[in-house]
Amino acid sequence: MVSRTIPVDAFDLIIFGGTGDLARRKILPALFKRFCAGQMPAPSRLIGAARAEMSAADYREIARAALLEFAGEAALDDASVTEFCQTLEYVAVDARDGRGWDDLSAMLTDGPVRAFYYSVGPGLFSDLSARLHKHGLVNAETRIVVEKPFGHDLDSARGLNRELAQHFDESQIYRIDHYLGKETVQNLMAVRFGNMLFEPLWNAQYIDHIQITVAETVGVGGRGEYYENAGAMRDMMQNHLMQLLCLIAMEPPAMFEPDAVRDEKLKVIRALDVVQPHHIVRGQYTAADGYSSYREDVGNPRSKTESFIALKCHLNNWRWAGTPFYLRTGKRLKERDSEITVVFKDTPHSIFGPEAGRHRNELTIQLQPDEGITLGVTIKEPGPGGMRLIDVPLDMSFAEALGPDADTPDAYERLIMDVIRGNQTLFMRNDEVEAAWAWTDPIIRGWEARGDAPKPYDSFSAGPDDAALLMRRDGREWRGITH
Ligand code: NAP
Repeated sequence: MVSRTIPVDAFDLIIFGGTGDLARRKILPALFKRFCAGQMPAPSRLIGAARAEMSAADYREIARAALLEFAGEAALDDASVTEFCQTLEYVAVDARDGRGWDDLSAMLTDGPVRAFYYSVGPGLFSDLSARLHKHGLVNAETRIVVEKPFGHDLDSARGLNRELAQHFDESQIYRIDHYLGKETVQNLMAVRFGNMLFEPLWNAQYIDHIQITVAETVGVGGRGEYYENAGAMRDMMQNHLMQLLCLIAMEPPAMFEPDAVRDEKLKVIRALDVVQPHHIVRGQYTAADGYSSYREDVGNPRSKTESFIALKCHLNNWRWAGTPFYLRTGKRLKERDSEITVVFKDTPHSIFGPEAGRHRNELTIQLQPDEGITLGVTIKEPGPGGMRLIDVPLDMSFAEALGPDADTPDAYERLIMDVIRGNQTLFMRNDEVEAAWAWTDPIIRGWEARGDAPKPYDSFSAGPDDAALLMRRDGREWRGITH
């Protein structure tokens, strides 16, 4: 079953940082796949922009190489690759001075949607906005896509929001969090709000706890300088995990409509309680055979930045009072695994007696490496010998349910098309970002003031043992990667 492709109008998309890592790995492959799906109607144009001087032909070669490396099977169709690359233009501009802006201006015409993708370092977001404005490139059809990180703390995020607001209306600003573009994340809303089955049980009365894990096997790689100033709290917790928490915990919005959804997410962030220091575990990976330590990766032998964080938090509202949420994320862990598990409470009384064991329903939403949703239900173990209970999964893996040809677009494909359509539902609003920082800042200030150092943990392990203790003290265990 192949999904419907909804037509879009012609558009101009200008990728600042069009030669960079993100553009080559994600943005160009995503656009290529949408092109193949017929969602780049003529006379749509893609314009790469960066400081390096090169011709459009040079840029097309960069794009072709990127597609062959990162676009998977779609890039095996050489004719489509060539056709797509022919649509690419290039302009040399410098965000920090006036070079190239007149050339860019001359390339654009009024009419189609005009989206500027800020795929450059965050230090250039303000400069780009001011230049776009100065050169008269902002019109009613203009949208900007802003990559993470959005600020370093509450003050910087507020400052950035203020600067963007000088040049753009909030309805023109698309703060991207690619986790929200994942098929399963949206399915989470479909499962919660499209079924009668779950929502009546979706509260502290029936749910024991909820846990969210985003684990990576990679270290900080070439991003050491950025990461050393960010850490797992800023790089992952404040945005990706917080957004997942919002979707799992929010009240049903009245409509699946941008501000209705974002209003409900904002309420979740604002309901977050202060996290107690003993409910936070920070870790830093050590060296392994053939792999350097975090400190070696970032070139700082005394680094106190965390490459792992686990914490327990609570929401101060009627629905969730008393239900703990456990969140963890880290690098150089033993598996790549992103999942949310909703653990329901025990039945109030077991008619099968203590020997039948303790069984609980669990709903697992798997985001990586494969997307899918599994509901664990308790049944009788088949065969004679009395009533022995076992847990079996009711599996909603998309590949099986929808067939091998199911079209599940990559998060960037969906999100870029949402920008073109003008749909902000899956993008963060200014007040959401600020509320997330307002929760994050005191936690970071707390460990900075105490001089806390992260606990070392073995590369390719499940993180520091204290993360397991955080759960075990409450009589619980992590799902997914375990100690
Ligand atoms: P990158 O590989 O360093 O690329 C930076 C791009 O910006 C290059 O095309 C560079 O080309 C251009 N550039 C630099 N200075 C410029 C200037 N003054 N004016 C115009 N263009 C300039 O960075 P990246 O990894 O693609 O990351 C881009 C953004 O995405 C960053 O904000 C990053 O935090 C974010 N992000 C990246 C990833 C990822 O996986 N890479 C993931 C999430 C978010 P020239 O040097 O030729 O100008």
